[in-house]
Amino acid sequence: MRIGLFGGSFNPIHLGHLRAAEEDRETLGLDLVYFIPAASPPHKPSDGLAPAEHRLAMVRLGTKGNRHFMVSDAEVRRSGRSYTIDTIHYFLSSTRGHSELFLIMGGDQFAELETWKEAEEITRLANLVVHTRPAEGAGGADQGALAALKRFGYSRLEDYFVNPSGHTLTFVATTFLPVSATLIRRKIAAHQSIRYLVPGDVADYIERHALYQGAR
Ligand code: ATP
Repeated sequence: MRIGLFGGSFNPIHLGHLRAAEEDRETLGLDLVYFIPAASPPHKPSDGLAPAEHRLAMVRLGTKGNRHFMVSDAEVRRSGRSYTIDTIHYFLSSTRGHSELFLIMGGDQFAELETWKEAEEITRLANLVVHTRPAEGAGGADQGALAALKRFGYSRLEDYFVNPSGHTLTFVATTFLPVSATLIRRKIAAHQSIRYLVPGDVADYIERHALYQGAR
């Protein structure tokens, strides 16, 4: 099985996440993509972060109806901070090594990969799938990506990269929807509509639970 792991704070999940994951899945021929909300993301202040159970519930609602999309509460259940390396070990042991893992992330995250706990080990245990915005040309994110490529020993092989462990790195130019969770939280705080930026069920959930009312 080819399994995608897509982690994030999902505060809340939005159509940008969903569309990118769908295109990554298609491009890499993934059987399943697990959306994995972080309990406490190591790289983000917890200020304005909705409780994990709400973010998990919204991810469940947002991915409903796509038979390739699954939701994992592995990070939410784990105590302490959420580290990707622990999640990779969890999936490797729960699938008893019968699965190939593909870690999905945006170009912004890939450029910062070096700062992640046991980053090198991550690149030795999982393939990486990095979806990029078409606009990411010679800009800052691209410089970061180049540095990361070098740092982790990837070399080019056809239209993807491979590292000494044999794991791959593929850049996927997805249809980039310029939506962010920050934008959504700001709109809610400003009493503006978030319809058509998040799945309808997610918008209903946010309203029903009065989430992000005072968010920044
Ligand atoms: P925030 O605005 O709160 O920082 P976010 O919208 O960037 O949140 P995260 O949950 O932090 O969402 O991101 C999870 C993953 O989704 C990251 O790998 C990020 O690069 C990616 N991502 C975020 N927004 C988009 C988007 N519009 N299109 C594609 N990928 C995205």
